[in-house]
Amino acid sequence: MFDTILIANRGEIAARVIRTANKMGIRTVAVYSEADAGAPHVEAADEAVEIGPARVTDSYLKIEAVIDAAKEHDAEAIHPGYGLLSENPEFVRAVEDAGITFIGPRPEVMELMGNKSAAREFANNADCPTVPGSDGAVESVDEAHEIAEQLGYPVLVKASAGGGGIGMNLATNADKLEKAIETSKRRAESAFGDPTFYIEKYIENPRHVEVQVMADNDGHAVHFFERECSVQRRHQKVIEEAPSPASAQFENLREQMGQAALNLVEAADYTNAGTVEFILSPNGDFYFIEMNTRLQVEHPCTEMITGHDLVEWQIRIAAGEALQVQQDELSIDGHSIECRIYAENPDKRFMPAPGNIGEYSEPSGEGIRVDSGVTAGYKVTPHYDPMVAKVITHGADRDAAIERMKTALKNYHIGELTTNIPMHLEVLDHEDFRAGDVHTSWLEDEYL
Ligand code: ADP
Repeated sequence: MFDTILIANRGEIAARVIRTANKMGIRTVAVYSEADAGAPHVEAADEAVEIGPARVTDSYLKIEAVIDAAKEHDAEAIHPGYGLLSENPEFVRAVEDAGITFIGPRPEVMELMGNKSAAREFANNADCPTVPGSDGAVESVDEAHEIAEQLGYPVLVKASAGGGGIGMNLATNADKLEKAIETSKRRAESAFGDPTFYIEKYIENPRHVEVQVMADNDGHAVHFFERECSVQRRHQKVIEEAPSPASAQFENLREQMGQAALNLVEAADYTNAGTVEFILSPNGDFYFIEMNTRLQVEHPCTEMITGHDLVEWQIRIAAGEALQVQQDELSIDGHSIECRIYAENPDKRFMPAPGNIGEYSEPSGEGIRVDSGVTAGYKVTPHYDPMVAKVITHGADRDAAIERMKTALKNYHIGELTTNIPMHLEVLDHEDFRAGDVHTSWLEDEYL
């Protein structure tokens, strides 16, 4: 096992990885930008290295600075968290070239899954069903028209290099297709430097359901069941839960989706933690949309219902240990919900609302977990993602988890900061949400 690991991230996820490292007796090294001096993740680590100014491109995304910090402090492995460098194959290669272990999958599989049209084709061939659409990238507007005609409108034009909902455009009929392609290409070119696009049938009112997977270096893989993440704004998740209420509605959905995810894992020779994302149509058909080759923000829901520490497995597998858990040993205990706490204003189209926190107190108690990256007197700056914390609750069933969440949120005091807590409380009491009956546009339909 490693003696020392470096965490190439900030905020709640850096603090969360440090907690597991502490539990395992591993020394931790944090990195931080000038703006994050004194931040909770810096205080929590055994050692910390400043790596540059506030802007992420000058600090957290600087591969060399991160690797130099690891070398200087004798870190044998690097955990990337999520976001930032976590899905960057160039970073993984640089880490390995420096003789350091990357805690995550291989760079080749990251490259494959990072190209969404290539990943689609690969998944299809691996018995992991994809949304009806083009075979790989589309070369021309004429070809796009032909494919869209065959699929039937509406269709989605998506950027191959896409992420964060960028470069995704809806065409409701043939007249709107060319414009959707143009917009998609332009946005993808400026965000990713790659205008390549592909086309999918637009599934109306789908749910977002995803499967957590884990695989060791000897080809042994399991899935830790599904999470539902349909409460979204701007294609970003706001509330997640495990298991998905849809699993009670559609017989064998869990088994089939789990198997499809494992088919992909096996075909890709995947290692470490990953998430296979699907959309689920209202009639129960599910389709692969992408694979995230890293730990997800919402992983705690899975930890709450399975009792497994996913970060611990990530570290053990990276250190060469076998994944000592069999699929039939895993079971689901109760229900878990996660509310992402954003410094943002739901009444102003979810605009970020950075500011000072002042007094601060977190809820605690049975079945309540808070993963936070802030503390009393802390200042939320506009430099980084406005997500300040996650509240995760567990209960014997979905209603119990929801009631516990309401109690937790009412007891969460984040000083003067404007947050989306009031919106969470409304959603948690909304009859559609209580019925487990929401789709990916539901939140925006209700609140925008
Ligand atoms: P990104 O990589 O940009 O996050 P995804 O492919 O993961 O994009 O899709 C993000 C969200 O967009 C999904 O959770 C879903 O809400 C919606 N979406 C994606 N593809 C489709 C589709 N074919 N039909 C309907 N909604 C879709």
